[in-house]
Amino acid sequence: MKDILTHGFEELRITPPPGAAEKLCQYAELLIRQNQVMNLTAITEPEQVARLHFLDSAAILAWGARPAGAAEHGGKSWLAGKALVDVGTGAGFPGMVLKILEPSLSLTLVDSLGKRVTWLEEVCKALSLDGVRCFHGRAEELALEPEFRDGFDVATSRAVAAFPALCELCLPYVRPGGYFLAMKSVESGGEVDGGQNAVKRLGGKLLGGWDYPVPGAGITHRIVGVEKLSLTPEGLPRSWGKIKKAPL
Ligand code: SAH
Repeated sequence: MKDILTHGFEELRITPPPGAAEKLCQYAELLIRQNQVMNLTAITEPEQVARLHFLDSAAILAWGARPAGAAEHGGKSWLAGKALVDVGTGAGFPGMVLKILEPSLSLTLVDSLGKRVTWLEEVCKALSLDGVRCFHGRAEELALEPEFRDGFDVATSRAVAAFPALCELCLPYVRPGGYFLAMKSVESGGEVDGGQNAVKRLGGKLLGGWDYPVPGAGITHRIVGVEKLSLTPEGLPRSWGKIKKAPL
């Protein structure tokens, strides 16, 4: 697995800190073992975990459509020192992988499934990851609390909801000047078009998609970027029932 990761990082043109590949191998072991007793992932073959979970998540660091406001500087990655929230993180993707690859990240993980959150807390201890907060709750409810609202540099989310609904779950967390990055398939064009109004209503501006080949997987995925321009309007996000029934 280590070789696959090392080559993959090169392909993505990212330089992880010493020991990151080893930490990811340890994470994979914990994931595969725990998956036998609870449902964390459908992907259980180590090589596939490396490519479809770890390298796919790592693509956020390589986000090639970064505007000037998210530039790398001083030889550091664009996520260095940032506060990032991963909404609907599941078994920790992409959030945990980003923390391992960029240890200066201040990471917040949110998931509505308590068992997964408890397991993530154990993984953080096992991997000695500092600066990770794990929250069990619904994204649209936590975003109403002042501590979370308009407070993060970056929000990420993968495989959680269709784009219009996802915007309402994630954009409220982002501070003006920050970014929401939705990890999507290359077939997401229609879904993203349908979210134009949601982006606007939530105070954002659609930056568009950036396509990348997932190293060694023979597939292309897309990061859809949204910049937050203004504070989240009052009354948003709404309850999940409303979000689902009538997307913005
Ligand atoms: N991001 C991970 C998990 C995707 S599965 C990955 O890409 O592998 C979707 C996850 O989102 C599940 O763990 C589910 O519990 C969580 N989820 C769905 N809706 C949510 C909501 N409204 N608030 C918080 N978590 C949510």
